[in-house]
Amino acid sequence: MFAGGGSKARSWRWKEMLRFPHISECRDLAKTIERDYYDLCVYQPIGKKLFHLYCMTRQELHNYILLLDALVFFFRFYNFLCVAQGNHCVPSLTNMHVLPLKRSKLSSFRFLHEYLSQEPFTQYQFSMHFDRFLQWKHLERRPITKNNFREYRLLGKGGFGEVWACQVRATGMMYACKKLEKTHIKKWQGEHMALNEKELLEEVDSRFVVNLAYAYETKHNLCMVLTMMSGGDLRFHIHNMSKNGLAMDRVYFYAAEVCCGLIHLHQKSIVYRDLKPENILLDDNGHIRISDLGLAVKLEDGDLVHGRVGTLYYMAPEVICKEEYNTSPDWWGLGCLIYEMIAGKSPFRERGERPKSSEMEKRIKSKPVEYNEKFSKDAIDICNSLLNRDPKHRLGCRGSGGKEVKSHPFFQQINFRMLEAGLVEPSFKPDPRLVYCDDVQDIEEFSALRGVVLNQSDGEFYATFNTGSVPRSWQNELIDTGCFEELNIFGPMGSRPPDLDW
Ligand code: ADP
Ligand code: MG
Ligand code: MG
Repeated sequence: MFAGGGSKARSWRWKEMLRFPHISECRDLAKTIERDYYDLCVYQPIGKKLFHLYCMTRQELHNYILLLDALVFFFRFYNFLCVAQGNHCVPSLTNMHVLPLKRSKLSSFRFLHEYLSQEPFTQYQFSMHFDRFLQWKHLERRPITKNNFREYRLLGKGGFGEVWACQVRATGMMYACKKLEKTHIKKWQGEHMALNEKELLEEVDSRFVVNLAYAYETKHNLCMVLTMMSGGDLRFHIHNMSKNGLAMDRVYFYAAEVCCGLIHLHQKSIVYRDLKPENILLDDNGHIRISDLGLAVKLEDGDLVHGRVGTLYYMAPEVICKEEYNTSPDWWGLGCLIYEMIAGKSPFRERGERPKSSEMEKRIKSKPVEYNEKFSKDAIDICNSLLNRDPKHRLGCRGSGGKEVKSHPFFQQINFRMLEAGLVEPSFKPDPRLVYCDDVQDIEEFSALRGVVLNQSDGEFYATFNTGSVPRSWQNELIDTGCFEELNIFGPMGSRPPDLDW
């Protein structure tokens, strides 16, 4: 029931819901859309498809497109070579063989795009394929309301509201809808946090961080529609599904995926600040993603930030002491996470123990970390290096960032290149018949707070939140569910269909 898409999952009215507007309705869009080759023809998934379709109508461009496709294959081949080289399975394969390939790959890509972005891109903008792109963009930009979705079961509860499984009626795609109750936001002044989370999520694009597909409002809620993660969170897997921590192959795998997610966030100058098992979610294949960016912060121009935020049990010493920091708390967080996955308890707290804050602070600042027999030498070393109390000497903070974390011997079994390409199969796959969270009955209901009055300035804030579809996610959804393929039809013999007649 929670699988993505499938034509049976679509509403019987789906074609009507996704009917193209007549091209004359896209005039304003044609005037205002930014004519950037890279954005329109490479980055946006539907834009890329239509540009390729256009090029295939011109005999002299066929080879360019074939070459572009071939380069994608070549890219996989190149990855494979690097893997082979990394594993030393072909001893004669050295940098001398691999590096020239990398250079030629990059320069061929550059050469192709340079050519295509000139005359072909100019001509494309006069074609029916570009007009069709405008029609898709028109659909993409329609306002989003709760009527776009069917709602299924409750998945969890957060600080400002509930998270529900939902499905896009038109495409059948499953998502998780995180609702923030408007009166709760107002009462606890969560406006900045809500908008911050939404805007940062819009910016990230990684298989290791949940993706935002839509942001919209209802009478009572602000809603973020996110990648569906139906396998439960790591807290549940560590504490409810196992007694003495997770099997080591799972520890390596989850730690490596979290590490890649952190590196992606840091590349975007985002410090996550809330790393803990609860915030790492599993999908139905057993891959994980970092979720809940409510406390994340964007560093401007390499600045430092301060601010005592996060969950005390997982807070880094520099955060507790209100010192300035950049990405260091996240590497501390990874240390806590690896420790907890192995030991089945956090490094500074026994199972079920709830120490006072002052006691917790003391332990984090000075208590030596103890390791049981489940920890190998490498595991002890990576935890000690990540849990270094001096951020300047912490693993991940000594200049080369996440790179040095990835090359720690703890990760020697992990092939990061394959992992980043999504080519590593998780050893544990959640059972689709099980629900990996506390009983829904145990989750209290969220309702509007009486006595909190919403006014005009609240309305203005809601409007900045309510931006509808996120372009790249929306376009991927249409492609992945097969809707794009079924609807993107032109006239007989590739002629201009009536809806594209200006
Ligand atoms: P908060 O910011 O209020 O802590 P979270 O983002 O952590 O809210 O969400 C609360 C709970 O909802 C999570 O602990 C999890 O159980 C569930 N949840 C959140 N996001 C998803 C998702 N993308 N897929 C499935 N469940 C989710
Ligand atoms: Mg949370
Ligand atoms: Mg949060």
